[in-house]
Amino acid sequence: MAEILKGVEVANAMREGLIAKCDELKAKGVAPCLAIVRVGERPDDLAYERGVLKRFEGLGIKVRVEAFDEKISQGEFELEFGRVNEENDIHGILLFQPLPKNLDSEAVKKAINPRKDVDCMCEANMAKVFKGDDSGYVPCTPMAVMEILKHFEIPVSGKDVTIVGRSVVVGKPLSMLLLGENATVTICHSKTADLAEKCRRADILIAAAGVAKMIRADFIKPGAVVIDVGINIDDAGNLCGDVDFEKAENIASRITPVPGGVGSVTTSILASNTLKSAGMVLNNAG
Ligand code: NAP
Repeated sequence: MAEILKGVEVANAMREGLIAKCDELKAKGVAPCLAIVRVGERPDDLAYERGVLKRFEGLGIKVRVEAFDEKISQGEFELEFGRVNEENDIHGILLFQPLPKNLDSEAVKKAINPRKDVDCMCEANMAKVFKGDDSGYVPCTPMAVMEILKHFEIPVSGKDVTIVGRSVVVGKPLSMLLLGENATVTICHSKTADLAEKCRRADILIAAAGVAKMIRADFIKPGAVVIDVGINIDDAGNLCGDVDFEKAENIASRITPVPGGVGSVTTSILASNTLKSAGMVLNNAG
């Protein structure tokens, strides 16, 4: 039976360091603050918001929720976003995406101050991820995967890693982080031929496709480490990942659960990025 890699263990291990960093900033006169920009009331946005509020409260980081009606016009939204972007007391901005269909996120992605872009949505920060320059921010979910691998001392260098999913928020940046740690990375997508075979090559298999239980037992090399990024609802209405967990745990050596895996670490990475931004303010002022 595989060892279950619990995200909460990773988040707990990060906790003391984050609190100490936050206290240090406050002692120097900077109160770290994240603004959540939400349009409408999508249940998954609200669930993420609750998770952020709870985690940040425990760390002593302020959160300001800037919520707008989904009927807000593009012009008005850009104006409101600009206000948040300009405010000196706000160090990080988390924009919930996708935005409602009547709004285009490109304008605000271009406008965001790269220092406040703690979820790495602007091109300047994404380019740094691809260059291996750590002066910006890494998107929270790929970084959460890296933190899990690090925490559980799972060797990455020289390993074959297969990622299922090539999105800009997960698969692509994650592939760069893994390359940076000297893994040999295969990126798969919906047009990949013989997906099962590509997955079976992997010492570390990472599922980020958003398709419930698509990673079956025969996709997994015996003894492989399986990291499940997917968040889906199964036919019975329950939350599940991209991996068929019950079958996979008999084959993998270690596996992350859903819920309770990658998602539990994401808000700690967001906190770490927010503190990094607040620290930059302090350094620039000093
Ligand atoms: P996305 O933008 O929809 O991208 C999905 C990727 O998976 C695409 O590259 C797609 O291929 C590929 N894919 C879809 N179906 C596939 C199939 N049958 N076989 C092989 N590849 C397939 O999704 P995302 O934003 O990256 O998110 C992926 C999953 O992670 C979702 O379940 C999401 O909810 C979850 N997520 C979790 C967290 C967290 O904190 N745990 C954060 C973000 C996202 P094409 O490129 O060919 O279309």
